Amino acid sequence: MNVPSEASARRQTGAHQFKASFEFFTPKTDAMEERFWESVHKLAPLKPRFVSVTYGAGGSTRERTLRMVSQVKAETGVDAAAHLTCVGASRDEVDQVVHAYKTAGIKRIVALRGDPPGGPGQPFVQHPGGYANAAELVTGIRRIGDFDISVAAYPERHPQSPNWDVEIDNLKRKLDAGASRAITQMFFDNNFYFELLDRAAKAGIRAPIVPGIQPIHSFRQISSFAAKCGASMPDWLAARFDGLEENDPETHALVASAVAAEQVLELVDAGITEFHFLALNRSNFVLALARLLGVRPG
Ligand code: FAD
Repeated sequence: MNVPSEASARRQTGAHQFKASFEFFTPKTDAMEERFWESVHKLAPLKPRFVSVTYGAGGSTRERTLRMVSQVKAETGVDAAAHLTCVGASRDEVDQVVHAYKTAGIKRIVALRGDPPGGPGQPFVQHPGGYANAAELVTGIRRIGDFDISVAAYPERHPQSPNWDVEIDNLKRKLDAGASRAITQMFFDNNFYFELLDRAAKAGIRAPIVPGIQPIHSFRQISSFAAKCGASMPDWLAARFDGLEENDPETHALVASAVAAEQVLELVDAGITEFHFLALNRSNFVLALARLLGVRPG
């Protein structure tokens, strides 16, 4: 008799086993906002654990992020998480945003340091009177309210971290300060993620480290974005997309979904049950990946 392995059984079982959250970016124009809502309304019936909305570089989308997050909750009933960064702002300014989230009934925050104005490659300079890093920000948020807080983790280390000891120590500090989970930077080789889990476990980190899954809807865009934030694009993966974006967008889309499916199913086989999908305000890839996990509109 062919007995299904535990892993393949997991692939076939229902939504209740998996927890998924979806990340959207704050739209900057009315046309982008239309697409945002279209995707939110398509994905909300999947009943994600939460939908998170990014905070534009240096706080550039402060008001819009607040409006989007409040509206997601009001219009769909899905829990919404607001990203928040502390770069380029005083503690008072950041605290005011946290108070605004609290007043609006937002209960979840993704707490981040943020990138310097010159981009992720530039050195971070603390605002005089500002929070020094994400760990301090988590402590500050905790003082204001009982939020569910997520922080960032980096399977390939943060570009500015000197070594793994500093990296894991920093992650532990953020979690010990009161975050409930970490969400990872995008990665395209699952081994980086598995190694991060090992390192975290050895350091006594018990909180979930949720993989951030980035479907490659445009190889050009995603590989450029990945390079900026220190996520490597393996040569074998680049080879899969070679020449498709310009010459054969349909095949590009098929390869992109196959690649994302392969990545997610390998994680499922390794026992991972929580996922954070970077939707980039598109719904199709996430809808397809959710189906692979047995998550259907309910
Ligand atoms: P931190 O954890 O504070 O630090 C980053 C690195 O600095 C650490 O890895 C560590 O190496 C070093 N470091 C920190 N403190 C110390 C210390 N005391 N001593 C030595 N080294 C130290 N950016 C946005 O602008 N808006 C967003 O909405 C947004 N969302 C994100 C969501 C996720 C899931 C992720 C992974 C990233 C997101 N980012 C966002 C990007 C993030 O702001 C950048 O990666 C930023 O450079 C680091 O933020 P952090 O919270 O990880 O910083």
